[in-house]
Amino acid sequence: MNTIKGVPISSGIAIGKVYLKKAVSEEITFTKAESKDEEKKRFQASRELAVKQVEEIYQEMLHSKGEQEASIFLAHIEMLNDTEFVKGVESVLEESGCTSEWAVKTVRDNFVKIFEAMDDEYMRERAMDIKDISGRVIRILKGDVNAGSLKLTEPSIMISDDLAPSDTAQMKPELVLGIINETGGPTSHAAIIARMLGIPFCICPRITSLVNNGQLLAFDGEEGNIELEVTEEILEDYREKQETFRQKKLRLEKLKGTKSITKDGYEVLLAGNIGAPEDADKVQQQDGQSIGLFRTEFLYMNREDSPTEEEQFAAYKETAEKMQGRPVVIRTLDIGGDKEVDYLRIPKEENPFLGYRAIRLCLDRVPFWKVQLRALLRASEFGNIHIMFPMIVSIEELVQAKQILEEVKGELRREGAAFNESVPVGMMMETPAAALMADVFAKEVDFFSIGTNDLIQYTMAVDRMNGKVAHLYSQYDPAVLRLVKKIVDSAHENGIWAGICGEAAADKALLPIWVGLGLDELSMSPVSILPIREQIQGLSKADCENLVKKIFLLRTGNEIEEALKHCR
Ligand code: PEP
Ligand code: MG
Repeated sequence: MNTIKGVPISSGIAIGKVYLKKAVSEEITFTKAESKDEEKKRFQASRELAVKQVEEIYQEMLHSKGEQEASIFLAHIEMLNDTEFVKGVESVLEESGCTSEWAVKTVRDNFVKIFEAMDDEYMRERAMDIKDISGRVIRILKGDVNAGSLKLTEPSIMISDDLAPSDTAQMKPELVLGIINETGGPTSHAAIIARMLGIPFCICPRITSLVNNGQLLAFDGEEGNIELEVTEEILEDYREKQETFRQKKLRLEKLKGTKSITKDGYEVLLAGNIGAPEDADKVQQQDGQSIGLFRTEFLYMNREDSPTEEEQFAAYKETAEKMQGRPVVIRTLDIGGDKEVDYLRIPKEENPFLGYRAIRLCLDRVPFWKVQLRALLRASEFGNIHIMFPMIVSIEELVQAKQILEEVKGELRREGAAFNESVPVGMMMETPAAALMADVFAKEVDFFSIGTNDLIQYTMAVDRMNGKVAHLYSQYDPAVLRLVKKIVDSAHENGIWAGICGEAAADKALLPIWVGLGLDELSMSPVSILPIREQIQGLSKADCENLVKKIFLLRTGNEIEEALKHCR
């Protein structure tokens, strides 16, 4: 087979010569060191050189690409200086009298095992970072003082068995036509950097054993197709695709500054989903009109302890200020389910998605939650912050959450702290219980944001993380669509707005349905904003309403998916 399928990560079409990068041999055997003290010094010297190299990469990235992309390398410097890492290596050296190479490998393997066993995909990807920094130290210890830096001399497609973020950073983007990596996932840092740089990227296990250095290759980062043999015909086909992609980008650029409005004048607010204040820049670069979901749990992850009120205040204030008066919907902590935070010491559960999660945890740990509410309210003075509660299933929960918010407002008033007295308060609509009671909830909040990711899993009784039942997890299912309709209608009957912030917001096939149902806002990954705007501009609200009528007569998700395919 000359065409193989990879996992598409970053869109774009690549045609070019293969530059094969296999990790420097890390074969390390246990060897006794001559002197433990000398070995400790050797490790420290190599680690310090590694820190220096990563600092250089950090500075280069900071100047060429900005703080956000560079921040990955700050994390690497922290890892290299991390006491657990350093002391870990030193104690292996002390206990076993081995060489530094073996000690670093031992500590690396332990860390990797821990990260790879984690349920959270983001955390699993961190194993790559550990491999990256340890690999650098090992290569330096082995005498490769450039630690395997890339030396691309002509435009090439990078094919690697384990491309590290520092590799991506060292590459000159003008020389990298595309990347195919054997490992990683959509949230790996290498993938994130590639996406930001606009480099086509696919993941394909075993690719390094299927290609030779210097051979011609072509692949499509959107479809995931990889052509191992590039015939004249394929070459022509990919050149055409390349041109189409280039034209599409140019077309989308021109949409900046235009409205997301249908041919018959119906406007949808297109917002971005973010996990950190820096992401607001991406929303603005893509001309997003607001922030529809700030997942604040990311502020609580990858650290030893909860972020303080001041840290959170700074993050929320920065985001609000960046958006200059445009809405910023900040969701209160949604930890639990697949998002774990060790220091919160949440006991392991049989069904974490049905357990101690999100608002349930916050209502149980009120003093802890109040820290976040104080920070949010104080930051509301600096922009158009909206507060949103996740995972609500009952009116009691909502009332209790609002009561606690009022208590916090009272505390701030007594302290003389400024905040927006009428900060809008909304709720995620992500449980069937909330959706069915939407008419009642709508009288209690200022807006609804539909979390389709969870609404689908709870409606269909399908764990969103379980690949075995993934075929049952469908955003097209009529049960899900009926709940969405109920939510939107209830919102409008009560004079409040309704949006979607789950992944289905940017589903191109469903977009006419969202327009037909009258969604006011769609919040999505920033890169989806312009393509969705373009599609909205080609739709007519009246046609979309007719389509909704037809679709709602169908009885299965498959029928609906098929019907939507035909009207694209
Ligand atoms: C959702 O459930 O659709 C949602 C946006 O929240 P999360 O993906 O963070 O659970
Ligand atoms: Mg959710």
